[in-house]
Amino acid sequence: MGIETICGPSWITARLDDVVNWGRANSPWPYIFGTACCAIEFMSAASSHFDVARYGAELLRWSPRQADLLIVAGTISYKQAPVLKRIYEQMCEPKWVIAVGACCCTGGLYNNYCTIQGIAELIPVDIYVPGCPPRAEAIFDALVKLRSAIRKESVIDRK
Ligand code: SF4
Repeated sequence: MGIETICGPSWITARLDDVVNWGRANSPWPYIFGTACCAIEFMSAASSHFDVARYGAELLRWSPRQADLLIVAGTISYKQAPVLKRIYEQMCEPKWVIAVGACCCTGGLYNNYCTIQGIAELIPVDIYVPGCPPRAEAIFDALVKLRSAIRKESVIDRK
């Protein structure tokens, strides 16, 4: 029996949303699926000069089972597609996806036989970050936008 069955949308669930979303928005645990040059840019974002810790996202996970934020950075080939999909499926709910860079968002320069024309063909994407490569600030902007989106969610919708 879910909480919505017990009390429905109410003052209690609204306050619960506030508390749960506060935790989820301020401490994402990212898993990086980096395949090309955009992943190098993420390394820069995560390092001390830019410092992703300012957004509570410094605890990079190396297992999808411990992560709630999948950051895909780089070109994704059809050969890599099943791996990416499997990793997404191994993450527990709630989970979010940020697509970093033109290749990841749309295929970018690589409109050819072997490149996925955007990872939305495979998995749901919450935030797109354009650029080739996007700067660290653009990645941080995506984290800020994701925070805002998480704060508007309801625990009833995201279990
Ligand atoms: S968008 Fe540009 S920088 Fe990023 S992986 Fe593609 S070619 Fe490399």
